[in-house]
Amino acid sequence: MDLQKHEKLILQKAETLARKLMDKHELENWLFKFDNAKNSFGSCNSHKKLITLSRQNVIYKDRGRIKDMILHEIAHALNRKKYSYQVQSHGHEWKQIAKSIGCYDELLDW
Ligand SMILES: [Zn+2]
Repeated sequence: MDLQKHEKLILQKAETLARKLMDKHELENWLFKFDNAKNSFGSCNSHKKLITLSRQNVIYKDRGRIKDMILHEIAHALNRKKYSYQVQSHGHEWKQIAKSIGCYDELLDW
């Protein structure tokens, strides 16, 4: 398989996984996209109801890490739904939510 095909396949799988996890956590009406960011893994925009992952970062990560990246952003979405903007984006509440949905992110150890 050539590299481009391989990359496409990884992105496809990541998108399928993101969609599945977003639906599971009641974000059916949210959208998922890839972005071209180089210095971040992903983003969560609750106005646009949009979760993005960095195309470049997804390609070079293993499956477990991709899942954590998705869950990290889902935790932001759930945190916003629950607390709006009253809490810090990586604060105590976010950590609780992230842990409860099975995210093993290095930020959780802070
Ligand atoms: Zn974050």
